[in-house]
Amino acid sequence: MQLRVLGKSPAWQDAGGACSGYLVEAGGTRVLLDCGSGVFGKLRSVVDYADVDAVVVSHLHGDHILDLVPYASGLIYAPRHQPVAVDGSPGTDEPPRPRLLAPPGARDTFRRLCSAAGMREQHIETAFALEEYNPARPARVASLEVTFQPVPHFLPTQAVAIADGAQRLTYSADSSPSDELCAFARGTDLLLIEATLPRPEREGPRGHLTPGEAGDHGRRAGARRLVLTHISDELDAEWARREAERTFGGPVEVAREGAVYDLSIGS
Ligand SMILES: [Zn+2]
Ligand SMILES: [Zn+2]
Repeated sequence: MQLRVLGKSPAWQDAGGACSGYLVEAGGTRVLLDCGSGVFGKLRSVVDYADVDAVVVSHLHGDHILDLVPYASGLIYAPRHQPVAVDGSPGTDEPPRPRLLAPPGARDTFRRLCSAAGMREQHIETAFALEEYNPARPARVASLEVTFQPVPHFLPTQAVAIADGAQRLTYSADSSPSDELCAFARGTDLLLIEATLPRPEREGPRGHLTPGEAGDHGRRAGARRLVLTHISDELDAEWARREAERTFGGPVEVAREGAVYDLSIGS
């Protein structure tokens, strides 16, 4: 299994960067994990977006979903699928319809997003085969098993694990400190974990982790490799790596756009 970082920015993009988006490839199956602002263009630079089998969405914050709108436009309106019928339905060259696995309530959120942006209300669900997943139930995409773990954040959010036989990748999504996340990631081959904050939130409910907390979660989970993400280019990456290594007790990597991690190769 291979993980490619398309975008690793938090809620605002790095210079020239993209918000959350990760391409997971295994045995000819392609899964896009989250699709935040800027991710669609990055996806296009590495694969044909029509060849993605499924998009899996961790939660419905804009920095994890907004590029589903242009992605849907490409699937529906790209020249290779013309002519599009007058009523907006696909033309004779039936475009592919990747699966879209999104949290409960996603259909309503996507409809409001699309209509607010001047698109047809069903723009996203026309382009994708939308399934609102049950976080308590595993999903399957070809040979890959996708499992979910609710984590504490500002709105309902799932950490996501993708397993291909013996290899397992775990993605924290956005999360404040969570024992459940540590248990869910137990023994994972690679934990891709958010490290958004230079220091814990000063007030109000917590929603994110510091690099030190991310390292601590990796150690408690017994993760074989730890990669920090959801981290701004305005935060010193070297400082973040050192902070995480101190609590993880081993080498830590900071996600870079374009980086590829092969889970069959140890760190
Ligand atoms: Zn986020
Ligand atoms: Zn979020």
